[in-house]
Amino acid sequence: MIIRLLVIIVLTIVFTPVNSTQGWGFTAHMRINSDAVDTLPAGMKKFFESERNFISEHAVDPDRWKRDDKSELPRHFIDLDMYGTYPFKELPRDYDEAVKKFGAETVNSRGTLPWRIAEYTLNLAEDMKSGKREKIRMTAAALGHYVGDSYSPLHSVENYNGQYTNNYGVHKQFENRMVNAYMDSYEPQLNEAASIKEPLRHAFDIVMRSYKLVLPILESETKARKILTSGQIDSLNDWRAKGIPDYLAILYSDLGEMGWNQMNSASYDLGRYWVSAWELAGKPVLPE
Ligand SMILES: [Zn+2]
Repeated sequence: MIIRLLVIIVLTIVFTPVNSTQGWGFTAHMRINSDAVDTLPAGMKKFFESERNFISEHAVDPDRWKRDDKSELPRHFIDLDMYGTYPFKELPRDYDEAVKKFGAETVNSRGTLPWRIAEYTLNLAEDMKSGKREKIRMTAAALGHYVGDSYSPLHSVENYNGQYTNNYGVHKQFENRMVNAYMDSYEPQLNEAASIKEPLRHAFDIVMRSYKLVLPILESETKARKILTSGQIDSLNDWRAKGIPDYLAILYSDLGEMGWNQMNSASYDLGRYWVSAWELAGKPVLPE
């Protein structure tokens, strides 16, 4: 446990910041991936338990892929609000249908996160069939990243950093600074994961629920920034700037419980996606 904590601390120092548009901070993504192992049924648990450190430490690899691959960025979000109003009926949930209606360029630039989750569920099933440890653990870790992002409310809107509503910098403050400042208070409750019948539909359900949490985040941030000086406001989007405790305390009092619920649900659903992949693969015996 102490070694794992040390690894987390060292990696946090080395790799923060990844960039200004990442989802949950490094610590939250690692935690979501690690906790998901605790939801697994006996038939899968041994493998995932033995790879828990890898799956946790590689939880933000997909954010790093963005540096070399321009097509990676939109796989981490979906700007639902560019498709009208909730429940966004005009957006077909089938990717090919969506492309037929809006064109590939539009659909891809507005973000493809739910489709990425469904794709990676299938990829994981294929990797499990192949029986290759290196492939299974990397795909499982990356799927965890995408599921984590889907539970991050600001990944469901165009106004992902409060840039249109005078909340500039809210992305980092909510997902990273607030979560990191209060991580000691996080106590996930995790049940055993059952498979998901329709992985794509489920991914859309997640982002739709996330979307509904955006407004409370922006409202709380508007309230919290009132106590800041103009210099502090300018620092909110600066990845090198330290957290401002009084400001974060206001965010945490309004949003802490919701944030923990999102992380908790992300771990649980990640377990469910892993189980779904395993079932799709025909429940193979995973490598020893
Ligand atoms: Zn991401």
